[in-house]
Amino acid sequence: MLQPIIHYGIHFGLPLVIALLFFKAFWLKAYCIMILGILIDLDHLLADPIFAPNRCSINFHPLHSYYAIVVYLILLIPKKTRLLGLGLTIHIIADITDCCLM
Ligand SMILES: [Zn+2]
Repeated sequence: MLQPIIHYGIHFGLPLVIALLFFKAFWLKAYCIMILGILIDLDHLLADPIFAPNRCSINFHPLHSYYAIVVYLILLIPKKTRLLGLGLTIHIIADITDCCLM
């Protein structure tokens, strides 16, 4: 019961906290861009079965591989892609937490 709350709490709550703390002037826009990080879950559609409750997505799905994670971390460096990188990194943190709780 606790696991989905923590998972979605990180997915939707952490971007909000970061947006309000660091991007006050345009927090809503920042929040929306970070929420887009959830789109990388589209790679689950490539998996069979699409949804498995006890499967750790990290390093299973292509957009959750260690190579992809390195790219997300690099996106944090340039100012232009930082928000996108943050959204993707937060997504990975949420998924890693999920794996730890399994
Ligand atoms: Zn995911």
